[in-house]
Order: sequence, then C-alpha cells, then structure tokens
Amino acid sequence: MSREALAAVSNQYGLWIDGEEQPAETDEQLSVLNPATEGELATVAIATENDVDEAVRVARDAFETWNRQTPAERGRILTDIAAAIRNEKERLAQIETLENGKPLTEARGQVERAARHFEYYAGIADKIQGESIPLSETYVDYTVREPLGVTAHIVPWNVPIYLFARSVAPALAAGNAAVVKPARETPLGALELAQLATDVGLPDGLLNVVSGHGSEAGAALTGHPEVSSVTFTGSDSTGVRVGKSAIENVSEVVLELGGKSPNVVFPDADWEAALEGVITGIFSNAGQVCSAGSRLLVHEEIHDEFIADLADRATALDVGPGIDDADMGPLTSDDHLEEVLEYIDIGRQEAGDPVIGGDRLDGDGYFVEPTIFDSVTHDMRIAQEEIFGPVLTVSTFADEEEAIELANATDYGLVAGIYTENVGRAHRFAREVDAGQIYINEFFAGGNETPFGGFKQSGIGRDNGVQAIDNYTQIKNVCANIDHR
Ligand code: NAD
Repeated sequence: MSREALAAVSNQYGLWIDGEEQPAETDEQLSVLNPATEGELATVAIATENDVDEAVRVARDAFETWNRQTPAERGRILTDIAAAIRNEKERLAQIETLENGKPLTEARGQVERAARHFEYYAGIADKIQGESIPLSETYVDYTVREPLGVTAHIVPWNVPIYLFARSVAPALAAGNAAVVKPARETPLGALELAQLATDVGLPDGLLNVVSGHGSEAGAALTGHPEVSSVTFTGSDSTGVRVGKSAIENVSEVVLELGGKSPNVVFPDADWEAALEGVITGIFSNAGQVCSAGSRLLVHEEIHDEFIADLADRATALDVGPGIDDADMGPLTSDDHLEEVLEYIDIGRQEAGDPVIGGDRLDGDGYFVEPTIFDSVTHDMRIAQEEIFGPVLTVSTFADEEEAIELANATDYGLVAGIYTENVGRAHRFAREVDAGQIYINEFFAGGNETPFGGFKQSGIGRDNGVQAIDNYTQIKNVCANIDHR
C-alpha cells in the first residue's frame, strides 16, 4: 500500500457528536480492517445506548435552530459541503477503497456522487413549497411542508460514503438534524464526512455519527422515541426488524433492501453494450451492490456465443487490491467472504461446476474469482437468494413472454436491465417487469436525480430525486375561514 494511501486514515476515531470527536461511554474499540490485506486500518469507538441517546438529544436541540434558518442559508451550507467533498475527493476515495475494498476508480465515482448529492439537495432547499387548495369563497387553504425533527440513517458497508450522502443530504436540506449509524465494517468515511461538514460551517449537532454495532447502537437509534424518521439501507431481514421498531414509535420509515435483478439480452442487442452491461452489472464492487445484475437471462439463440464472449471478458478482469486500481477488489469482510463461498458451493450442487471462477484467491485478502454459473433454473437457491458477490447465474429464454416471466420470478424487485434495439419490446418490458428501476441498453443508467427504490421485497419508499424530500418532510394543512367581517 502506498504511503499516500496510509496517510488518508487516522489511527483512531471517536464518535462524532455535537460537532466534535467524542469518546464513547466505554473504552471498547472496533477494529476496522483493510479487506485487501486483512491488516488493521484504524480503531473506532463503539457507541452505547447512552451515547446514542446523547446524539439524539443534541440533534433535537440543533434542529430547533436549523429549522428556523432560511432555506437559502441551508442550501449555501450544503453547497459548501459538496465543494469540500470534491476538494477532498482523492483522500475520501482512498478511505472508501481501504475500508471497503473497491477499486479506486469506482471509489472516486462514488465520492463524486456524494458531492453531487449535497449539491443537488442544496439547490432544492429553498424550493420545498406547499400548495394552495381552492375550496370556496369562505376559505383560504394552503399547505406547508415542515421538517420532521431528528432523522436516523442506517448505512451499510458496500457503498459507505455515497449511501451516507444519499439520505443525509435531503434530510438536512429539508431542515432536519441527522444521526447516522454506519456499518461496523466501514465507519471511517462517515466519520470523515461529518468532520468535513462541521469544518465548512454546518452548525454543531446537526450531523452526528454513532459508530458501533447494529444490534446495540443501530437498535438504540432506530427504536429511539425522539427519532421521527428512519432511513435504513441494508439487508431485508434487518430492514424488517428495523421497520417494526420504528413503527412502534410511529416514525416514518424508508427501507432500501436487497435485490436479485435480471439482466436480459435479446438477439438484436448491441453486442458490445450488452457485454459491457452484464460485466459492469455483476462485477462492479465485486458484486456487492444492491442493484447488481446478478441474473443473466439470455435468448437461447445467442446463448453459446454470448457466454463464450462473456467468460473471456470476465476471465480477463484483473482481481487485486483496490488501492492499486485493479478491475475488481476483494469482498469487504471475512464473514461475507464465507457467505459468498457457501453460495458458490450451493451453486456447484445445484448447477454443476461454474463456467469460470468459483475459488478464493490464495494469499491475504478476501478475494474471490469472478464466477459464472450456467444452466441455472429459477427454482434454484442461487437464482432466488441475494449472494452479494461476484457470482452471476445464467438462464435462457425462448421469447419475450418467457423473458418477462423469468425477470419477475423472484421475491425482489429492485432493478431490471434489458438489451434490445426493438423500442417497442424495451418499453413493453419496462411496463410488465416489477422493479423500481428499468435500465434500457445500459446497466446502472440514471443518477442522483432519478428515483431509486424497490418493488416487492426490495423496499419501501424512494431515495434520490426531488421526491426524496417527501421522506423528510410532513405536510401541514392550514384552513382559514375568512368570512367573518
Ligand atoms: P445489514 O442489514 O447487515 O446491515 C445494514 C446496517 O444495519 C448496518 O449499519 C448494521 O450495523 C445495521 N444494523 C444491523 N442490525 C441492526 C439493528 N438491529 N437495528 C438497527 N440497525 C442494525 O446489511 P449489510 O450486510 O451491511 O448490507 C448489505 C445489504 O444491503 C444487501 O442486502 C444489499 O442489497 C443492501 N443494500 C441495499 C441498497 C438499496 O438502496 N436498496 C443499497 C445498498 C445495499
């Protein structure tokens, strides 16, 4: 690892509460590991229930002032945060790579998305408007959009910096105060972002980070009676638990959960775009992407040729440390490596040996080869369950009807990709497939501006775009009788 990269990270981090680094109630520390070397990067404080309580109390106080600041002023501070993230882009990208494992090029892209997110919601802060509703000559009626108060943000380990920004930026823009619980494996980016926001003028107490365990800090935060909304991004099982505890307090809930998304290739597809989309869809971030295109559905006529080309491309991917900007980095943790290897074993039992890959790389680090299983039927576990690794399943279809049926044949509904030059077919597919995002001729198409969220078991609510402001505001209706003279 380069000297420059090591310099990106401090040795020890406390919690970030009330605009400063603070020790946790206990001396216990989390060890944050570099998944490419298995060496320790830093230690981080572990928030207890009392620490979380303090963060929520501080946020509640800060909210009372922030809420009364002009929307334009809130927007200016968010613009400054965006600029600060861009100024620190290289260092933040190195931190994302060091703690998560992804290649530097991908990490730079995610940090830029985080900056763009603050910029986007900075522009929205002073455009959060109500409506006037015509009733009769007796009344004047209008609505006001008010912030909720303290918002909780539970962030997973796969894209820690961008997913932090994804919900925190609209929450702050709308006038709320945030408390963030980053994943145990990847808390550094969140702690760095909170410090950077404070450094450029975000008032103390508006953005707090309580690192630690999901079962303690996470549960204390999402079940806190003073928290008015919970945005959870993570696995479906934890999401349901978090949703139930938030509902106990009648908090708003957004759940961004898992996926098992299809990538569908028709014979008339642009061959190069389809190959590129399938490779990017499953091997970006070593497949640790909620919206990964983890099920390839390919027309039976082109199956042999397409899989041969795909296997060549996937085999040519250079797997190595993200800090060296390899094409694909390691998985993020030891535990997750074990889960992915277990699914590869299940795949061998269900579908036979993979076309390529299937093994862990020798040496240090949690590296797994790009892996493709062919002849997968939709009833197999590897076709139904989220593996969250560089493991692609391949199935064939005979016609458009079967492609749509297979695309819909899981409990998830996060995204779906289609490659075809037939415009009518692409839009019929978009209409018939139950997914929150449809990608036509490019995987991961869209951006900060486009709504993102899941159908079916993939979640509740939408992030990104103008409508994310709905997650962090409540509507007040004001109705006046003006008939008394
Ligand atoms: P996870 O559910 O294990 O953990 C997510 C977060 O929840 C972590 O910060 C964890 O500490 C916290 N947590 C755990 N138990 C908790 C509890 N009882 N109360 C409150 N918080 C708790 O998920 P993960 O393994 O970190 O992330 C991978 C999953 O996230 C995948 O399923 C992936 O598809 C999903 N994901 C979804 C999206 C999306 O936008 N839909 C984006 C990224 C990841």
